[in-house]
Amino acid sequence: MNWMEKELESLADASLERSLRASSSIPGSPGYIIREEQLLLNMSSNDYLGLSQHPAILEAMREALLTEGAGSGASRHVTGNRLPYDRLEEALAEWQNCEAALVMANGYMANSGVISALVSRGDVVFSDQLNHASMVDGIVLSRAEHARYRHNDMEHLRTLLNKYRDKRRKLIVTDAVFSMDGDQAYLRELVALKHEYGAMLMVDEAHSGGMYGVRGEGLCHELGLQNDVDIHMGTFSKSFGVYGAYICGSRTLIRWLLNKARPLIYSTALPPSIVAGISKALVLVQEEHWRREKLYAASMLFRSSLCEAGFNIGSGDSPIVPLIVGDNDVALRFSGALEEEGIAAVAIRPPTVPDGTARIRFSLSAVHTEKELTNASERIHTIGLRLGVLSS
Ligand SMILES: *Cc1c(COP(=O)(O)O)cnc(C)c1O
Repeated sequence: MNWMEKELESLADASLERSLRASSSIPGSPGYIIREEQLLLNMSSNDYLGLSQHPAILEAMREALLTEGAGSGASRHVTGNRLPYDRLEEALAEWQNCEAALVMANGYMANSGVISALVSRGDVVFSDQLNHASMVDGIVLSRAEHARYRHNDMEHLRTLLNKYRDKRRKLIVTDAVFSMDGDQAYLRELVALKHEYGAMLMVDEAHSGGMYGVRGEGLCHELGLQNDVDIHMGTFSKSFGVYGAYICGSRTLIRWLLNKARPLIYSTALPPSIVAGISKALVLVQEEHWRREKLYAASMLFRSSLCEAGFNIGSGDSPIVPLIVGDNDVALRFSGALEEEGIAAVAIRPPTVPDGTARIRFSLSAVHTEKELTNASERIHTIGLRLGVLSS
């Protein structure tokens, strides 16, 4: 096992080692965490709508816990498929205006399980270079050809579609909003290419489900493209504030996945309390549009103040705001300095992002107030000057 120590040391030397730190939440204050007895404004959570502590969700979960028990006891194909599952899947299909929906344990398992169920040897998956690791792992598991195209480069994608024209099945996969950059995929162009080349299209709405569309249906709906997307995936772990994932599409697709998606077949069903919490969150996501409006206003405010200060924050308009510093060590020091100022915002380093693009990834929430964000921007500005990320 000596090799392990050595490899870990070289990771640490490159400022690339990861380790865990404990934090606790504050009941009723989803915008803050406590870490080592310090109160921190949480700017690194994916609780975009601030639902993680919603009393109605907690109550629904408590009730289900007391009636259905702690765990579901088996896979859904065995005896784990409790009633709350069926009700939730009906509500999801209604929300997405699609034929059928399937709940899965989490986004990672949904992406890896669905992609590996759709394609195999002899097929090809076209995947944006910045797609989430769970999709990449699904492609590797599937044993299909992995045709990676440069980020949002539709010409490159077209070249690859031509190159692999003769493959049996073709699947294009993309994040709708990219998780580490906060920019959007070119969904209209992807839909056009999918039709032109006879490919399937899968869109991951982990960072857009709940956040776009009048009822939070996601970016595909907001753009009117929902009927052109074959496999619509999203999670309950982010803007829903709970845990889990969904797949929406045709009845045939869901029937296929029930038979072929291995993480669904060979893993225990989510606890009924989680499913009950998701169902309540789904009602709130649809009804409480003000959360989306607040989130959007917060994103505009925060983005424009960092932009004016002269930071490189990429090109999106989402609540994911990357402050790109480049160097791994500078990113770590920036994050440490923020913590001293009462702000939790993690440094994201390779391999999560490409080499030389280490960053602080801020993610905003509807619970952040204008005052908190203005204060945070001022501190970020000061630290940027001190660390030489900004020139004075
Ligand atoms: C977070 C994330 C996932 C994984 O979802 P979990 O429910 O956390 O497992 C999948 N895709 C994208 C784009 C994500 O950001």
